[in-house]
Amino acid sequence: MKQRIYLSLAHMGGREQDFIQEAFDTNWVVPLGPNVDGFEKDLSTYLGEDRHVVALSAGTAAIHLGLVALGVQSGDEVICQSFTFAATANPIVYQGAVPVFVDSEPETWNMSPGLLEEAIKDRIARTGKKPKAIIPVHLYGMPARMDEIGSIAATYGIPVLEDAAEALGSEYRGRKCGTFGEYGALSFNGNKMITTSGGGALVCRTEEEAGAIKYYATQAREPAPHYQHTRIGYNYRMSNICAGIGRGQMQVLEEHIHRRRSIHGLYTRLFEDQAGIRVMDNYSGDYDSNFWLSCILIDELQAGISRETVRRKLEAENIETRPLWKPMHLQPVFKECPRYIDGTSEGLFDIGLCLPSGSSLGDDDIIRVAELIKSMCR
Ligand SMILES: *Cc1c(COP(=O)(O)O)cnc(C)c1O
Repeated sequence: MKQRIYLSLAHMGGREQDFIQEAFDTNWVVPLGPNVDGFEKDLSTYLGEDRHVVALSAGTAAIHLGLVALGVQSGDEVICQSFTFAATANPIVYQGAVPVFVDSEPETWNMSPGLLEEAIKDRIARTGKKPKAIIPVHLYGMPARMDEIGSIAATYGIPVLEDAAEALGSEYRGRKCGTFGEYGALSFNGNKMITTSGGGALVCRTEEEAGAIKYYATQAREPAPHYQHTRIGYNYRMSNICAGIGRGQMQVLEEHIHRRRSIHGLYTRLFEDQAGIRVMDNYSGDYDSNFWLSCILIDELQAGISRETVRRKLEAENIETRPLWKPMHLQPVFKECPRYIDGTSEGLFDIGLCLPSGSSLGDDDIIRVAELIKSMCR
């Protein structure tokens, strides 16, 4: 059996252990410390736009604290892209609020501005209340239509919380994803663009907001010699050890993005003349995806094979692939939630497949995957 090819693996740069060693040498084996400060500074510098980044224990924690900071409470509604990972929607429910799912549009696979506006109008008409926040996602690294979404959000005065967990390094009209919303959430889980072995960050607009996020993330402890609390807090800060990995990873981030983009370019060339296989691509020059995962759509009639058969045959060849995210409005746990759906994400889910895209893969791996798929097609 040939060596297994994974979808997306952690890929170390080399300097990570030096930062961890330093933490041990100085006995900073605790939450917080110099690596946390350093990692936050690296991220703020990288993202630009004068943003303030708070390192947290997970991307999910970042989304949760973004909602807390936006004042989302029990009984509120929050508009959420349906085509995403459950971690986008779960924190809405942690707050006792209700997710309102909005479908995607076919060019970016992300939140449809038309359906977003329809949802806002209809929620106001039905409940007499505005949704408290809007969460668009940059799925697989592809930027959402932030101009249109931002202008609808501004028209109705609803804040945007960007889920940029998959989009570190992606740009929309020359600006980094994660810097468009009131808040932006990043993830450093093992399979994302860079990893801290598990972690996330919230991108904030002001130092005051970042301070409030740090406060909530450390049990909402008030400045007093004893333990004093006037609000409910969380234990969501990143540890100094994890942040050490993050600092090492920041040194290879550009390289890793470059590699993921070249993997996408290679898949695009290899599938160019294959009927029935379409590689997801930037819709126009406004979009510059990091191509966290390269995805294809398989037209069964043209290709002569279904997505699921391709997936199973690749698995038999020890190659890991995965269907696209199953939309949240189709998940049993969210079956009671309001939804504004036109079938786009469901159609993509039926025929889409994520291909091995990790930055540690070689061209030979990518060629093996693509040639195998082509050999299955008509
Ligand atoms: C990974 C991911 C998250 C959650 O991040 P964690 O660090 O795993 O908690 C949220 N949203 C999306 C779209 C993701 O892919």
